[in-house]
Amino acid sequence: MGATTAARPDAKLQQTLRNRISCTGVGLHNGANVAMTLKPADAGTGIVFRRTDIDRDIADVPALWQNVSGTMLGTTLVNDHGTSVATVEHLMAALAGCGIDNVLVELDASEVPIMDGSSAPFVFLIECAGTLVQDEVRRAIRVLKPVTVTDAGRTVTLRPAERFTLSVDIDFDSPVVAHQSCEFDDASMTFKDELCRARTFGFLHEVSALQDMGLARGGSLDNAVVVDGDKVMNEDGLRFDDEFARHKALDAVGDLYLAGGRLLARYEGEKAGHEMNNRALRALFADASAWEWCDDVDAGLVTSVQEEWVEERAVAMA
Ligand SMILES: [Zn+2]
Repeated sequence: MGATTAARPDAKLQQTLRNRISCTGVGLHNGANVAMTLKPADAGTGIVFRRTDIDRDIADVPALWQNVSGTMLGTTLVNDHGTSVATVEHLMAALAGCGIDNVLVELDASEVPIMDGSSAPFVFLIECAGTLVQDEVRRAIRVLKPVTVTDAGRTVTLRPAERFTLSVDIDFDSPVVAHQSCEFDDASMTFKDELCRARTFGFLHEVSALQDMGLARGGSLDNAVVVDGDKVMNEDGLRFDDEFARHKALDAVGDLYLAGGRLLARYEGEKAGHEMNNRALRALFADASAWEWCDDVDAGLVTSVQEEWVEERAVAMA
């Protein structure tokens, strides 16, 4: 936003990390080792991935919906030079859930490490690094009218709402997963408590087929819940009874953060995944009357403070 635009007095400010922090892990797709460093970034930067294993000129990939190039086994981003970064969604969800607006994510390979298949290790990293409040107002994307994308029984709808809420509905032909729902409301729940620990999941026969195709080479019981018939293969079982639906909710939080800011919207996903999430953002931004930028404020703190301020502004400008 321009320096001349006055912010609302109740607007939230942007945040970055207080310190840099690193971790290592393996990529889910290629199974290769990868080192990742999260670095503080200036206000207005957004989330930017930087590949340190290739030429600096072509190394940066902004975390934006326009750059999504693939949605198989995760969300992959690519820049104009063809530089790609895969499996960004669990890190994006952690950054969204921790309120981090600006960060540089350095990677020495083409994938974000899968860690334990959830966002919890990234939330831990962010908390270890600490957050730093910056001097620019955080902007949010207000959804102004419902936008729906549908394909083969899968649906995502974004509806106008005063804050971010979410509902996820999944229905798998599996006695373990079956039908599950998850509701999340960021005014009364926290990403850290409700969603961040839910792991990605797969079915044994699919994992084998993917590995035969050279995919999911890093996939194991250490970084996914694996379902075989009517049982969970992981020794310690599930972290939540509805871990599958919670993970879909986590994925949606991460995919939606590729909007480039927080969404003031209600997300409703039915049998949806990364592809439908990205299609929903594309449909939203294709219709200029469906959304607008606004200052991000605490829901519930609005009304009187805001109205007084608007009146003061009107007087000052008269
Ligand atoms: Zn996921």
